Amino acid sequence: MLPPKRKRGFSMDDCIFCKIIKGDIPSINIYEDEHVFAFMDINPLSEGHALVIPKIHAENLWEIPVAALSAVHAASQKIVHAMKKAMGPVSVAAIQLNGRGVNQVVMHYHLHLIPRASGGETLKLTTWEMIPGDMEAINHTGAAIAAAIENDNDQKERK
Ligand code: 5GP
Ligand code: ZN
Repeated sequence: MLPPKRKRGFSMDDCIFCKIIKGDIPSINIYEDEHVFAFMDINPLSEGHALVIPKIHAENLWEIPVAALSAVHAASQKIVHAMKKAMGPVSVAAIQLNGRGVNQVVMHYHLHLIPRASGGETLKLTTWEMIPGDMEAINHTGAAIAAAIENDNDQKERK
């Protein structure tokens, strides 16, 4: 698995999550394998809020190699099974932010696993209002994305 290209001036020494992987910043660790590290979030949105990250530094969903992405999600499945055992019946929101425009704060790919225990408080982030969209606009944007997928010549590079 090749690490993604570094941005000019970026050092992994600047990345909090790379420091956590190295053990330079303390963390409450729950899972580790060859490619993946998982630990508890220190600002939990609910009891059990955990973060699952690749061991290589990749900023977001655009940059992360497919193998690392698969490893993160395979590990997440183990972790949600464990949450169910450890916390009783749970539902889990798995969310992931890409870019400062959607409030990504730590620029090292991470999947949030945010459980809601049976009887626990509603998770605000899961209660957005359903407002029907403009079908013409949805169709137009959908077609643009589908066409971009058809013409994606960078596909090989990401593997
Ligand atoms: P983002 O908005 O980037 O998706 O979320 C970053 C998450 O990382 C936040 O939920 C925040 O609480 C968590 N976080 C930031 N710094 C640390 C840290 O030093 N240790 C741990 N365990 N979590 C952190
Ligand atoms: Zn990093």
